[in-house]
This record gives sequence, structure tokens and C-alpha cells, in this order.
Amino acid sequence: MKFDTKVVRSSSKPDKTTGAVVPPIYQTATYVLEEVGKDKGFDYTRASNPTRQLLEEHLAAIEGAKYGVCFSSGMSAVDACLKLLKSGDHIICSDDVYGGVSRHFNNVLVNYGLEFTYVNSSNPDEVRAAVKDNTKLLWIETPTNPLLKVTDLHAMNKIAKDNNLLFGVDSTFSTPVFLKPLEFGADIAMHSTTKYLSGHNQIIGGSIHTNNEEIFDKMKFIQKTIGAVPSPFDCWLTTLGLRTLHLRMQRHNENAQAIAEFLESHPKVSRVSYPGLESHPGHKIAKEQMNGYSGMISFELNGGIPAGKHLMNNVKLCFLAESLGAVETMITHPATMTHAEVPAEERHARGLTDGLVRLSVGIEDKQDIIEDLEQALKEA
Ligand code: PLP
Repeated sequence: MKFDTKVVRSSSKPDKTTGAVVPPIYQTATYVLEEVGKDKGFDYTRASNPTRQLLEEHLAAIEGAKYGVCFSSGMSAVDACLKLLKSGDHIICSDDVYGGVSRHFNNVLVNYGLEFTYVNSSNPDEVRAAVKDNTKLLWIETPTNPLLKVTDLHAMNKIAKDNNLLFGVDSTFSTPVFLKPLEFGADIAMHSTTKYLSGHNQIIGGSIHTNNEEIFDKMKFIQKTIGAVPSPFDCWLTTLGLRTLHLRMQRHNENAQAIAEFLESHPKVSRVSYPGLESHPGHKIAKEQMNGYSGMISFELNGGIPAGKHLMNNVKLCFLAESLGAVETMITHPATMTHAEVPAEERHARGLTDGLVRLSVGIEDKQDIIEDLEQALKEA
């Protein structure tokens, strides 16, 4: 089955009793046993649920993975991956990861004896130099949130294999439409399904995918033991959103390219980061390893913070909101919103300036988005 058909059809299995095209929601906590020790494959929804299973199979099919395991948020999916490690282990992580991820690593997981080194993973030499005797995990986000840094996954896989590291990729920004990390040798591909995969700002969720049975078994164990599972209703909403993923991503990509080019040529914009622009330092790698550049742009205005604030307060069509990857265009100020809890010193060292604006380009008519940005930029 071709990719687009898998996107549309992997969870549309007509209901056996009614023929309903949209599968029912199994909104239940528990299941009646036929007799002691004999169930119908489900015993308690924290452990498994048919609606969640359908979503896990759907996501695995489009990721090209044997297995999928869903969680109640992208953060709980990241956390589950880190639970594969133990106290004393060292993790190498991309330096521009989503602020919630570094917050979790630096404020929670360090208390359990895990040690983190952040590196510019766009530079494989920096990654290789960070490997220590106790390094166990290489955690890459590509493109990163919010600077859109691109990492060469072939190079990362070589480093991971040379040093016997578990290799995980947060592929939230790329989606399986544009990138499949497992094809590059990653052990784990992870998503915040809150974003493009569900696509309509309707749920919070996360998933991990692997071809490795041992990792899958551990993840299932972590999932049922800790219980950070998505509700059946959220799983059902996600499967509906998923069915148009390929079409939405095409439009996100097309709109973002046009808007990045518009911003790059605008006199009030000093810097634009979008992997689809030739000026982007990771453009060549992105072109080689991705089928498109997705819908995220970050940029900076000549007028710094005041100009950025003016722009964000004056857009009319774009929503000033946290989150990304939905059909509506959303504009965000990372320094005060998504990355507010990253200490200012650390933010600045990472190149995440106070004037940075992040745009999640939606699937509206691109001309309307450009006109909205243009009018808001006028007074900036
Ligand atoms: N990974 C990335 C790249 C993200 O952008 C986010 C959220 O913005 C997360 C993980 C966390 O996902 P969630 O908000 O679903 O917990």
C-alpha cells in the first residue's frame, strides 16, 4: 500500500456489527472476562484499549514502524524514552530542543541521577566529542523548536552505532510525510501528536515508534505501569485528524515556503530561519533527508523585541498562541511563551533571542497570511 493510502485507510476499518465507516470509541475503563483467566484481548484501559490500539497501528503504519505506543502528551512520550535509562547514565541532546523537554531534563530527571550534555547536533564533530563512557542515549530533534536547526541523521546514526548508544529522534516538526527517522537507523521516532499528526488543535498526545521488539516491550510496560495514556476519545479524534495528514502537510509546506520567501525579502525582517530557504545552513541536509520542509518558520525583526511584540499584537488572522502544527496559522514569542522557563542566559547562548518570532504556518490561503503579516509589519 502506498503512503497516502496508508494515511487515509490505516484506521478505517468498518465496524463489524454496524458497518460504520468511522470506528466506534471504546470509552471504557474495563472489560468483562468470559471466565477466569480468559478475556477478549483487553482487560483494563490503562494497559490497552481498542481505540488506542487502532491509533497505534495507524501511526506505526505511516511511520513505517513495526510498533507504535501512544502517550497522553508529547512530554510523556519523551519521558517514557528516558525511562529506558538508569541513574548514572549520560544523554547527549540537541541544544535547541523544545523548552519543555530541556525543562524536564534539567529540573526533574537530573534529580534521578541522569546527566545531560547539550550540543549543536548540526555539527557531528561536536556530538562525537561529547560521547563519554557512560553515554547511553543520543536524543535529536530535527528540525529544532524554535530555531529550525537541521541535523544529519546518517551522521548521528554512525556516532550512535560506533558508541553503542540508543538513538532517538523527536520528529514532531518533520512528520512521517517528510522524514522517517527509523530509515536512518534511529531506534526510536517520537512525536508530539498534539501537533501535525492530529492537526486541528483538538488534543494533547504523544507517540513513540520502533522496529525493536525489546524497546517496544519496555515501552508497553512503561505505558501500562505509569499510565500516562491518552483517553479513547482523544485517540479517536487523532485518527480522524490523521487521515488528511499528507494533504495538510503539502499545504503547510507550500505556504511556509512562500511566507519564508516573503519574510526574507521584507526590509523590516533581519533574519529568517526556514530549512526550505537556500540561505538556511541546514538546507542541503534537509533537501537530502526530507521530502519537504514542513510548516515552521522563525524570524527576527530589525526593531528587536518592541517590533516583534508589535507584530504579534497586531496580527488579525494569525492566532497569537502556544502550540504549532494545526490548520490555523499561529504566531508565538518563544522567549515569553514556549521557552519562558529556559533561563535567559541559556536562551541567549543558544541564539534564542528575545526578539525571535515563531510562526506555525497553517493551511489557509497563503495570500491571506502574507497580507496579515504585511499589515502588522507596517507599523513595526
Ligand atoms: N517535542 C516538540 C518538538 C515539541 O514542539 C513539543 C511541544 O511543543 C513537545 C515535544 C511536547 O509535546 P506536548 O506539548 O504534546 O507534550
